[in-house]
Amino acid sequence: MGGSKVLVLGGGFGGVQAAISARADLDASHEITIVDRNRVTHMCGMNPLLIVGERNTDKTGRSLGRLANRGIKFVEANIDLIDTTGQKVETSAGTLDYDYLVIALGAAYDWDAVPGAKDAYSFYDFDYARRLRRRLSRLKRGKIVLAASKPPYKCPPAPLETAMIINWWARKKGIRKDLDISVYIPELGPLGVAGKEASMRVRNALDQRGIELVTGAGVTEVSMNGREASFSDGSSTTADIIATVPVHKIPDIVAASGVSNGKPWVPVNKATLETATSNVFAIGDVNVVPSGDFAIPKAGVFAAGQGTKVGKVIASRVNETDAPEAYDGVGFCFMAYSAGTSATVGGEFLAKGGPQTVLSEPSVSGMKSKDRFERDWRNFKI
Ligand SMILES: Cc1cc2nc3c(=O)[nH]c(=O)nc-3n(C[C@H](O)[C@H](O)[C@H](O)COP(=O)(O)OP(=O)(O)OC[C@H]3O[C@@H](n4cnc5c(N)ncnc54)[C@H](O)[C@@H]3O)c2cc1C
Repeated sequence: MGGSKVLVLGGGFGGVQAAISARADLDASHEITIVDRNRVTHMCGMNPLLIVGERNTDKTGRSLGRLANRGIKFVEANIDLIDTTGQKVETSAGTLDYDYLVIALGAAYDWDAVPGAKDAYSFYDFDYARRLRRRLSRLKRGKIVLAASKPPYKCPPAPLETAMIINWWARKKGIRKDLDISVYIPELGPLGVAGKEASMRVRNALDQRGIELVTGAGVTEVSMNGREASFSDGSSTTADIIATVPVHKIPDIVAASGVSNGKPWVPVNKATLETATSNVFAIGDVNVVPSGDFAIPKAGVFAAGQGTKVGKVIASRVNETDAPEAYDGVGFCFMAYSAGTSATVGGEFLAKGGPQTVLSEPSVSGMKSKDRFERDWRNFKI
């Protein structure tokens, strides 16, 4: 009898770890394949430091071709159709069949949901971040507005972190007194998922740095050639740079496949990350795992943790061994306050009595851990 075929869609944080973890427990008779339209993928988490020149544009990516060394086949192709009934996936490089499917296609951006946002600035995508980096390098004075539209969006600390990094950069450049920095978020408070006390500490940190925080105000439109933003609370503001967090949505091919059952994100069994279709799993930003009043945040650490778990679940089924323990929802994100200090925020999101999360104080050692995290990611350890 031939071996099993494990097919992983998407080579981001989740997909790569699912493939590596399954490979560790499956012998060579079983085939593991990753499909992604990009051979080189970039780590969005480096964008906030990239835009102020504190990360190199040629050091934010990793090549999925390197997975061949680990016994994982990489196919560079666009995925066009997922057929869970026929157990096959159509791609620009042909049709691929599978026994086990891992959907790790992340969140897509709906740039059209906020008219004008597509032509404004952003730091949520590598190309946009590079453009913002060029613009910031020329900036001497004025006003910067960072504006999120609606939750959920990747890494909820990112707009707050980016504002603090821009503050640090402007001080270093000697232009801080000539620069206004504002952050608009749709939530009623920053980092709600981390609890009231953490939320208040982030408010204070922004306040101490002279950064204006406007809550309950999602950006609804960018007009005047990228110079004016309107918000859901009826207010509007003009600025020299308006950078938005795009509306996130499920990729169209995932919605069309039926695995999301018409829901905004793919529902999964929170212990195994399996969808309603057996042996079809959905991990990372594409899924929703409820956690208390919130959901597990859309962040790379959780996508990677879910990937590791799914790899083990699949291997246990192929090898007919005991199922691994249930997924625990543990993870920490970094929140940099400058190029030299970072805090972490996170904890146990599936703890019995509800999420147990903490926000640490920013520190130099926190930034060292962030540097290590980025290095590990580039070397496929995360
Ligand atoms: C500014 C910013 C800061 C962040 N900071 C952090 C942080 O500090 N820590 C942290 O943990 N996370 C952070 N994140 C979040 C993190 O980047 C995401 O949560 C993570 O990438 C999700 O992983 P994933 O595997 O689910 O999806 P992704 O990493 O998005 O991977 C999905 C992959 O699928 C591929 N794909 C999609 N559709 C198709 C298709 N049709 N055909 C072929 N390929 C396709 C894409 O090319 C992509 O490579 C940050 C994000 C941003 C934007």
